Amino acid sequence: MGCFSGRQGPPPPPPGGGSTPTNPGSPSAGCCPTSVAIKAPDGTSNPCRIVPANGSLRLRAVPQPAGSGRRFRWSTSSTKIRLENDTGQTVTVRGRGNASAAIDAETLVVACTAPGCGAVTSSVRLTVVKVTFSKSNAQTYGYDDMDTPAAPTDHHVSVKKLATTQVHTRIEGGLNGTQLEFVCDDNTIANPGAAPASADFDLPVDGGDTDKGETVLRARVRCTCPARDCTSIKINTYAEKPVDATVAKVHDSGSARTALRFPNLDAPGTATLINTKYKEGVALMTLTDHSGTGGATNVHYDLDSNGSLTYDIVNGGGPEFNKIKRAFAVAGWRVVIVRTMVSLYYLASAAARGATTITINTADHFYTAGDTTPLGTGGKRENVTIQSFVGATLTLAAPLQHAHSRRAPIEFPAAGWSGNPVVIVEGTTSEDEIKWTIGHELGHSVLSLVDVTHDQSIMHFMQGAADTRLRYKPLPKHYDPGTENQWETIPRP
Ligand SMILES: [Zn+2]
Repeated sequence: MGCFSGRQGPPPPPPGGGSTPTNPGSPSAGCCPTSVAIKAPDGTSNPCRIVPANGSLRLRAVPQPAGSGRRFRWSTSSTKIRLENDTGQTVTVRGRGNASAAIDAETLVVACTAPGCGAVTSSVRLTVVKVTFSKSNAQTYGYDDMDTPAAPTDHHVSVKKLATTQVHTRIEGGLNGTQLEFVCDDNTIANPGAAPASADFDLPVDGGDTDKGETVLRARVRCTCPARDCTSIKINTYAEKPVDATVAKVHDSGSARTALRFPNLDAPGTATLINTKYKEGVALMTLTDHSGTGGATNVHYDLDSNGSLTYDIVNGGGPEFNKIKRAFAVAGWRVVIVRTMVSLYYLASAAARGATTITINTADHFYTAGDTTPLGTGGKRENVTIQSFVGATLTLAAPLQHAHSRRAPIEFPAAGWSGNPVVIVEGTTSEDEIKWTIGHELGHSVLSLVDVTHDQSIMHFMQGAADTRLRYKPLPKHYDPGTENQWETIPRP
């Protein structure tokens, strides 16, 4: 079998008096391919010559003349691409993980043959482009790498409604920002701004007119490829949550041990510090000092003269805290800072010496198994270790050494309480740590966030976290099962 011309129809009549045409089934019949072109998959458009790293591109070989029996072989010596269907008329070029060293650095060759014909070839230069989004040092709001730094398509960027942030963008392969397309799937949620003619830049991203929404920002090549996305990242737009509060630093001049270590703690400066982390979740703290001079407020609160604020957990603080609240009657959220605090639950029923269980005045307490805490007063005060509990009934690791009456206090070591006012204890912590604790407690009260066990969070259940960002990544809750996504949990107006 020979080849047949693609120009079907009756053979042209022989020229008058001329010689008989050569056998149309023979290689010399003029139906061998004389050339082959590389086109887009439609066979006519110019081909896209950009392959996204880890993306793909399809190209079609178009021989002249067309005809049956054409055979194709695509090949490349490039290490940046691999070929699928390399003996088909249409080849799929897959970008590997790395970008080209320069524009047009990869060469793809196609050879076309037919039985009895010599090969004709054509080649095209391709570029593998790689785009990487990452956190910008100039970002206005947040970036969560989801603790998977190597998988940036999982990452989340936060932006305030109708405001702008930046996403760092790096292009490898020789292209610049104007040669790619940046789009959001839902442009009512977010929109990218113009990219510059640079390969390493901050891409502006504008939050849309929405209180809460998520979309995908994509970088893609401008032509039509089956997989034209170079990379993507998630954009979360939020209405900014205001966290406005007044701070009173409270001592009792009649009780020397209530004197504050940091009576001049800078409330507005605290807000500035906390906002470096609150902004990640698109929240903005504003703190006002209750004292016109920025100093402490004197309240005679130490009614039991123990040198501490005695805080009745179940009853919203109890009598000593009520005295402070009456002296600090301002509208809105309030933060009270005191030198020390003793936070108490109380026995709901008397406990005998030798007992191994006790019942306290709430089932909704903050103890965890293994906690050791003081029970009782005066000569009967003893440390108990809570082995386990069911609701309000605590099982102790060892029998009680003393009998305790109903309403005997049992301590819970709290560094602060949320609510309104929030109460925060100086204790022995640093001034900086007290500031972070204000952010933590208002995080409970105003941002509706729970304590988490992730030790790199402002909402960690203990003080001292090194990194205190608000996160999109769901973090394990400390007092309850499950996780919490902080950006998504914050109530939006
Ligand atoms: Zn907490």
